[in-house]
Amino acid sequence: MKYVKMGLNTIEIDEYRTKLFYEKANVVSQTCSCDYCQNYVYCCTDFPPELNRVFTELCINPKKASEVMEFFKDDRGNHLYASFYHIIGKAIEVIPENEPIIDLSNEMAKLEKKTIYFDITDEIFIQSNDMMSPLMQICLEISLPWVLQK
Ligand SMILES: [Zn+2]
Repeated sequence: MKYVKMGLNTIEIDEYRTKLFYEKANVVSQTCSCDYCQNYVYCCTDFPPELNRVFTELCINPKKASEVMEFFKDDRGNHLYASFYHIIGKAIEVIPENEPIIDLSNEMAKLEKKTIYFDITDEIFIQSNDMMSPLMQICLEISLPWVLQK
């Protein structure tokens, strides 16, 4: 188990099963061939370092989102996206003694300044391919450039 602190929440992550899930999962542009998903996957390579750190600590491969949604193009030509991910884990109140805790509060604050929002909850409304438990759902809200050559 791995313990990650994000803002007010401490999450206990089943590192092994989450990593296994992402090894088997498809890149979202393989599951959906629309331009929005293709563009999203291209943009994953250029995510800011603090966002990459959050994904790494949560054992998530950002290209393997469970769901990607594009909302609109803003006046600067960026596209507002929401993407959803799953991890096997749960929020905990009491952290076991002598366990190291990875604190991502700094990263979360930096992301918020860049208007990148990262939300983690145990309310699941996006289906994942696997029957996994306990499950947490992550929503990333991010504005991305259009890099697809179309
Ligand atoms: Zn798509």
